[in-house]
Amino acid sequence: MDIEKYLKELKSEKIRQAISVQSKVIQAARDFLTGEGFVEILPVIISPITDPLTDYRLRGEVECYGFKYQITKSMIFHKQIAMLSFPRIYCFSPNVRIEPTERKNSGRHLIEFVQLDLEVRGATREEIMELGERLFTHVIFRIKETAREELKYFGRELSEFVPPFPRISYEQVKASYGENFEMVLSREFSQPIWLTDFPIEIREFYDREDEERPGTLVDMDLIYPEGFGEALSGGEREYQCEKIRRRIQEKGINLEAYDLYLKFAESGLYPSAGFGFGIERLTRFICGLQDIGETRLFAKKPGVLSL
Ligand code: AMP
Ligand code: MG
Repeated sequence: MDIEKYLKELKSEKIRQAISVQSKVIQAARDFLTGEGFVEILPVIISPITDPLTDYRLRGEVECYGFKYQITKSMIFHKQIAMLSFPRIYCFSPNVRIEPTERKNSGRHLIEFVQLDLEVRGATREEIMELGERLFTHVIFRIKETAREELKYFGRELSEFVPPFPRISYEQVKASYGENFEMVLSREFSQPIWLTDFPIEIREFYDREDEERPGTLVDMDLIYPEGFGEALSGGEREYQCEKIRRRIQEKGINLEAYDLYLKFAESGLYPSAGFGFGIERLTRFICGLQDIGETRLFAKKPGVLSL
């Protein structure tokens, strides 16, 4: 491990400025969500169940008292279950995802990052997208007011972002922009863009399938403009036990792995919708940084031993 590199980073003016912005982002988001009637819950770090993220990520497991726990990849299931206590929740949730080493220099991937993860009982995708737009514009508005010095330091002029943001479905985007659609879309637009209706094969089992359009999910991503890529992912959730069971099986996942979650689903979950908004990526966008590593102290890049 390169100690000199850390000493340089700890004294880096650029990183200090970015973290100052980030702390104001967190404050602005908290104020907004409190005003909207949300309750902040504390994060879950280990649990027998976490987001499967079956596509490529390894499991981060720890054994406690002979029981197998996993390190949280996202709080999706805990958010759904927490709906039994509160109708509107959010959490600054640390996630650990052992990303492939090819992503080391993507500028967008850390293996430890924080999501502002929220969920609303009974909400539709439409309502949650509208909430996301108001949260985003509120944060940008507050940062322009409270972080003038930092924005000046970065030479960053943030445009006026005016909801409703443009929308495009996955099907449309693939047809018009090809395989690398996310980045092409992100570079082409000057407003954030909603990407909706992902196909069932490429997302996890908990995004709700549209009954009217089998194979299509009631979900969405928000894509930053100016080439900064994905900001958040979310959608409506499957909450009926039988459907969840079927969706798990369709993914080829052993039902036993989600036994505990299924027990909660059997006893009754509420319909809900929500999203997870990456805090480091938001900081990167606001400061106009190439490297997400500059948005936090002790940043962990895939494949690199880090403090
Ligand atoms: P996901 O559930 O994978 O869509 O993650 C939710 C949000 O977390 C994404 O939209 C990103 O803003 C952020 N995020 C996901 N993976 C990473 C990563 N490896 N490093 C930093 N931020 C991430
Ligand atoms: Mg995503």
